Amino acid sequence: MTPLEQEIRRIIAFDGPMPISEYMRTCLGHPKYGYYVTRDPLGPLGDFTTAPEVSQMFGELLGAWAAAVWRQMGSPARVDLVELGPGRGTLMADALRAARALPAFRAAIAVHLVEMSDVLMAKQRETLGASGVPVAWHHDVREIPAGPAIVLANEFFDALPIHQAVRGERGWHERVVALGKDEQLAFAVNPVPMLDFEKMLPEALREAPAGAIYEWRSAAYSLEIIHRLKSHGGATLVIDYGYGETQVGETLQGVRRHGYADPLTDPGEVDLTAHVDFAALGDAGRASGMAVSGPLTQGEFLRRLGIEQRATRLKANATPQQAADIDSALARLTAPDQMGELFKVLAIADPKLGMLPGFDS
Ligand code: SAH
Repeated sequence: MTPLEQEIRRIIAFDGPMPISEYMRTCLGHPKYGYYVTRDPLGPLGDFTTAPEVSQMFGELLGAWAAAVWRQMGSPARVDLVELGPGRGTLMADALRAARALPAFRAAIAVHLVEMSDVLMAKQRETLGASGVPVAWHHDVREIPAGPAIVLANEFFDALPIHQAVRGERGWHERVVALGKDEQLAFAVNPVPMLDFEKMLPEALREAPAGAIYEWRSAAYSLEIIHRLKSHGGATLVIDYGYGETQVGETLQGVRRHGYADPLTDPGEVDLTAHVDFAALGDAGRASGMAVSGPLTQGEFLRRLGIEQRATRLKANATPQQAADIDSALARLTAPDQMGELFKVLAIADPKLGMLPGFDS
């Protein structure tokens, strides 16, 4: 049994069943045994690979996107380039390299990284130490000093805890992790229905059949970012796997060694993620008076930013093996049966910015 499972069992024995959100938060972020706190999970030898780890083209295109947005902001003399959950720092390193094409932008940048893992922070220091741009680290987005900002988040929101509710005969019940037979961790539901839960649901889901599962994330995180952008100007770009219309269905999954794993087995050793509800993110932006663009599929967005031309240019100076690798990375990022369709891209911006690059054609 993992040390974290022992601890979770102890907490449940004292406090009673643990809501899914608390379970997810504990598994990923427990200060001693949390999944992200104890390891670098990325790459072929880890548990999963992300778009910036697939190809430098991804971060370079986002760097060019940020440069264009900075211009639309009126080329401010100082801009915070914020990344949420920067992993190994690869995306930011590639973006900063691409930003060399617009020296005034590069000179304006202060990088702010929001990261809860000390292991990954150390990797980011290695990757970005010699970038020539000031870099500051924060455990929480609220620690970043206020100012105009461009905020990038790739595969970050899927790691934020979700809540789950299950439709019963007499209302919706919170889904929890309890101690089942033989004291094993097991999914269960709180027998007391949640008061007036229907009112919070999008109308189309109120008649969901018994047994349906609805997932949601606290809006606190996205609203924190939205309010900053509203007060000080800027835009955020969110890229993740998820759906464009709010729906019922369970998406909580464990990920280990590039495959699916049981989310209740070996807590702290397995990545836990859930799909991102882009409709909810967009609604939070619109309700705050911001301009919302997308969601577009990742494939479409990257093509509009010119990934195919970028691949052709890289191949011009490449060996045949390198050219084949560039082609396979291009397919991995954009093909519908790979990351091209499941992954979505959404931007929330100060309405004064107008149409954002990639969303305008
Ligand atoms: N964006 C990177 C890494 C994705 S993995 C890439 O595309 O390669 C998720 C990242 O988010 C990791 O860096 C993880 O440590 C960080 N993270 C997850 N939950 C977090 C939280 N609540 N606060 C801060 N960082 C978090």
